[in-house]
Amino acid sequence: MASGKCYLEGYGSCAGGISREHYISRNILEFGSTGKAVKIGGLPWQPPSTMQAIGLSSLAAPILCQHHNKSLKPMDTQAGRLMRVLNSIDKVPAKVSAITYVHGPTFERWMLKVFCGLAACGHFNNGFIPREWKEILVGGAWPAFWGAYFPLGFGPVTVSDGLSFETKVHPETREIKAVKFYFFGLHVNLCFGIPGGDYSGQMRWGIRQPRRINFLNEPQCKTIDLMWAGGSGEEVTYVRTGSTNSGPDYLKYFPYDDSA
Ligand SMILES: [Zn+2]
Repeated sequence: MASGKCYLEGYGSCAGGISREHYISRNILEFGSTGKAVKIGGLPWQPPSTMQAIGLSSLAAPILCQHHNKSLKPMDTQAGRLMRVLNSIDKVPAKVSAITYVHGPTFERWMLKVFCGLAACGHFNNGFIPREWKEILVGGAWPAFWGAYFPLGFGPVTVSDGLSFETKVHPETREIKAVKFYFFGLHVNLCFGIPGGDYSGQMRWGIRQPRRINFLNEPQCKTIDLMWAGGSGEEVTYVRTGSTNSGPDYLKYFPYDDSA
């Protein structure tokens, strides 16, 4: 499936020859070695609504040169950091400091990197990676309305442990217009414009680039500061409503009300 060619060729200079890239970061897949298997769902060859433990080697392909591979590594680092803090807040909150800093803009690009990798391998978008995606990966700005939205709650949501995706595809062009990421209990919509072009309805995708995510478990609150300088400054709060046997159990979330 894979091209054996750097998909960022022409976007900065290639160097070092082609290397195998883990398009779902190695540090996330290897989290399983700590005793808990990381489950992945939503890949095109998986049965619908199924989470499976997937081997390291099957998610790597020769799709980036060594230089580009290395230059994107900070994205893997931030995604791994966010995964570990989410897991700790759920499982060992006493070990988590009140505020943890994760670089949201880098995590946002990591989500895009996952889909560039999947597209480069031909699994999505017929193997086509839009020019805009490549420009963003090498440091370009997100076009208007593009980027990460953290959904507003409409009542309890089901969260799953592990990582899974759902794609929203344009009915005619088959282009991917949005990807819903379920990232270790966190829901993030990565939007490439607004599906259907309904820009007035953008809020249904959630809060764009919120500054903070709070996990409230009275009387304690753990905060992940996403360090978005130009974002909305808004906060998303998850409230613990009870315990479940598996996975994170922050079931409700709502936007923080500043005026209260
Ligand atoms: Zn390259």
